[in-house]
Amino acid sequence: MKKYEWAVIGSGIAGIIASEILTREGHEVILIEKNETLASETTRDFHEWMHAGSLFTLIPDNLKTLKFMLGALDDLLEFYSSYKRMNLIPTIKGIKIDTETKGWFNSEYIHFKFRIQGRKVTFPWIIGIARSILLINKIKNHDWLRRRAGVLDPFRYRLPDIMKEVLQLLKSKEKFRDIGTPDFTMNSRILIKDLISSSIEKGLTISTSNKFLNYTKKDKGYLVTCERESFESENIVLCTGANVSEVLTARVKNSYAPMAVVDHISDQINSFVELDYYPKNCINIIKKDNGIGLVGGISFNDINKCEPYIEEVIKKHQIYDPNIRKLYSYIGKKSEVIIEGEPRNYLFHIKEVEKGVWVIIPGKFTLGFSIGPEFYRKVYGKNPKNHFNTATDNGQYDELISNTVWFDVTNDKKKV
Ligand SMILES: Cc1cc2nc3c(=O)[nH]c(=O)nc-3n(C[C@H](O)[C@H](O)[C@H](O)COP(=O)(O)OP(=O)(O)OC[C@H]3O[C@@H](n4cnc5c(N)ncnc54)[C@H](O)[C@@H]3O)c2cc1C
Repeated sequence: MKKYEWAVIGSGIAGIIASEILTREGHEVILIEKNETLASETTRDFHEWMHAGSLFTLIPDNLKTLKFMLGALDDLLEFYSSYKRMNLIPTIKGIKIDTETKGWFNSEYIHFKFRIQGRKVTFPWIIGIARSILLINKIKNHDWLRRRAGVLDPFRYRLPDIMKEVLQLLKSKEKFRDIGTPDFTMNSRILIKDLISSSIEKGLTISTSNKFLNYTKKDKGYLVTCERESFESENIVLCTGANVSEVLTARVKNSYAPMAVVDHISDQINSFVELDYYPKNCINIIKKDNGIGLVGGISFNDINKCEPYIEEVIKKHQIYDPNIRKLYSYIGKKSEVIIEGEPRNYLFHIKEVEKGVWVIIPGKFTLGFSIGPEFYRKVYGKNPKNHFNTATDNGQYDELISNTVWFDVTNDKKKV
């Protein structure tokens, strides 16, 4: 039986990031996936929205989630800039996206449209918008040039600034306040294929269509029992998303996120989120190439609410853009892992459940860029390399990695 230093179970963004960071450091790793292809579950269904934190400026959590999101961008710049197609450029005023050739990220910035009309008496909402606008502008203008000495510029938002913004909102006659945010979209398949190509070049073994069943102690490591083929490994990292509750004493809260692939989006429409005090009134559209886009994504506890919601959302979009047409709808599953005494899922989890057995849950694709380096630090007590040789995928792993839902639908491959 082949022996490895690390067995990574599950090949969503968590497992791919963990495999890459371990092979980058020269470890002998096997990535085990139950499906035929990698990145074929939540990491396939999602919006491809790269969060720069704008959405989380609305959460009353002392900016904790926002800081995690900005930390992920910071880690991305620090630990993934060796990749040739990682096309973000830190500048003195925000992050620029180099779009000369198609890279990991697109300059498709997401607009926020805060509803004002009919909500002026909802005072907490108006204050919330004012705070959100101030924070979004701060992120947009952030100095990303890591001058680690000589700069002491603590971030503060002041009450008078918020009140000034509140007064403007109260005076406004607009239906929505439209703000261009620093959040953008990603080409997740380019990114994933580069990470996998590099990992394979550094020795990663991949075992697909091989469901992990359990692990038992053996010699100095573990016997990793899977349905088709089993392995021995000194260490294990479980990256099985929602299935993680099989090994972790945690409550998994599942909710259902109805999504639709639409086409015929007019060139005048940007990716946007219309935000309202009542979440059920919120709509969004994330644009892809050639007038294709994804709409929906709000979570419901009751699966029966999904179908009516998606029909309603499409009707609302058609008021702005009558040509929009639904191509396909599906239900994304959001799993929030709640560990007693630990913060929410958005603040990712890294847990050693027993010696040499780890569980990692990013909570957001975006947080994958932090969870990789942080996992490595927790295990080895030092930073992973930030300058190293990378490989660029040239199509050799197209069959190994699933496409996104929207790509498959629009290419009529009927894989969904
Ligand atoms: C509708 C929706 C939209 C979203 N949009 C965004 C967004 O725009 N931006 C963002 O940053 N985040 C977004 N998210 C969150 C993000 O998609 C997830 O946090 C992330 O993809 C989860 O990655 P993961 O690797 O933890 O899980 P998964 O991608 O679910 O991967 C788990 C893997 O483990 C495998 N597996 C499970 N059990 C076993 C087993 N026993 N043996 C072997 N393999 C196993 C599964 O097959 C799967 O491949 C969205 C989520 C949803 C649901």
